[in-house]
Amino acid sequence: MSKETDKHEVEDIDCIEAVNLLYAYMDGEIDDKETKAKYEHHLAHCRSCYSRMELEKALTDRIKAAAKASAPEKLQNKLRKLIDNF
Ligand SMILES: [Zn+2]
Repeated sequence: MSKETDKHEVEDIDCIEAVNLLYAYMDGEIDDKETKAKYEHHLAHCRSCYSRMELEKALTDRIKAAAKASAPEKLQNKLRKLIDNF
């Protein structure tokens, strides 16, 4: 049944496995080249996992940006209020 070319194709994983790999992939924690390839292969074929990854990526970027931007700003406001009260 299987064709010659099938041997060279990346083994497909299911969505559950893909979701399990999502965070490790985003954090760059997948050292295994084959696992990484499998995940990327799944993303290329599965729209829902691809959107999920994009969404998580966007969320993470936003959280990181917000954490970077708002922490010093909050502190500044707090200090300003303290100074104003004197
Ligand atoms: Zn999927």
